[in-house]
Amino acid sequence: MRDPDPELSVVVPMYDEEDVLPMFFERMRPLLDGLGISYELLVVDDGSRDTTAALLLDATKDWPRLRVVRLLRNSGHQAAQSAGFRRARGEYVVTIDADLQDPPEVIAEFLAAARERDVDVVYGVRSDRSSDSRAKRTTARMYYRLMCRLVGKQIPFDAGDFRLVSRRVVDAVNALPEDGRVFRLVIPWLGFPSAEVRYVRAERAAGTTKYSVSKMLRLAFDSVTAFSAAPLRLATWLGLLGGSMSGVFVVGALIIKLTGRSIPGWTSTVLAVSIIGAIQLLCLGLLGEYVARLFQSSQRRPQFLVGYDSLEDQGHQEPVRQR
Ligand code: UDP
Ligand code: MG
Repeated sequence: MRDPDPELSVVVPMYDEEDVLPMFFERMRPLLDGLGISYELLVVDDGSRDTTAALLLDATKDWPRLRVVRLLRNSGHQAAQSAGFRRARGEYVVTIDADLQDPPEVIAEFLAAARERDVDVVYGVRSDRSSDSRAKRTTARMYYRLMCRLVGKQIPFDAGDFRLVSRRVVDAVNALPEDGRVFRLVIPWLGFPSAEVRYVRAERAAGTTKYSVSKMLRLAFDSVTAFSAAPLRLATWLGLLGGSMSGVFVVGALIIKLTGRSIPGWTSTVLAVSIIGAIQLLCLGLLGEYVARLFQSSQRRPQFLVGYDSLEDQGHQEPVRQR
């Protein structure tokens, strides 16, 4: 017999988090047990290469509410969240990072806000980012500014992936046909009634960041290409600008030629070639980002593959709610 669906699923994407894992469980368990509702702690192991998988498996033995879903390979933070959303059974689903930067105590506030104000989404908004490095804060500010412009004003500034959503939202997200979804943009875009809870973001409790520069850039590119075709039009505007400028150049060059004051134009040639070359490459690259997105979605490959789910391992007969 399968347990009834829990009231709360806490989804935790984890990639190589052996250093922080014991601390995370130590802080999480009393807190979740103390909420007084049924829950599952759903850890999505995003293809960790260290001892995370072994530690998780070990922990499931004396914590029945802990559920481990292991992806076959590292698929990225957003894909791990997608896997969590697919598999979560709770009426409410909270996503939280494993590194204790998001204080788990706030989960109780999320639940209270969702119930009292009868909303489907509660965003955790960082009221203080002083624990992040200056570079991280600057790039984050640029990212959120850009996203507010692209998606519209409804994006809560400085809300990351620490949030609570209701079953209605989970089903709506799972029903979206698109791949490469960026949760922090897609959820506000859906437009369900929402509330915010402010919290102070702590320092990473142990281990190092799992977001490499290339993963951060990937997130930024996915964010932009999922919501706006504006970069494609940049090529048109640059082309128009270049075209009108070259008109002036042609007239100028002709006048100089006719007045017999022409000089060997090496510098201007090199400059023109390199500037135009750079602009063309930039535009091609932007075009490439969209083509790549189209290409990937036309392949229709799954974004992640689940290798193991501890819930199925426990001999549950009924299939777990999933794609
Ligand atoms: N993470 C993941 N897959 C990845 C990269 C990160 O599941 O490919 C997880 C990571 O284990 C953590 C969360 O995503 O729980 C946020 O990552 P991290 O704290 O390293 O990012 P930062 O806070 O430095 O932006
Ligand atoms: Mg972190």
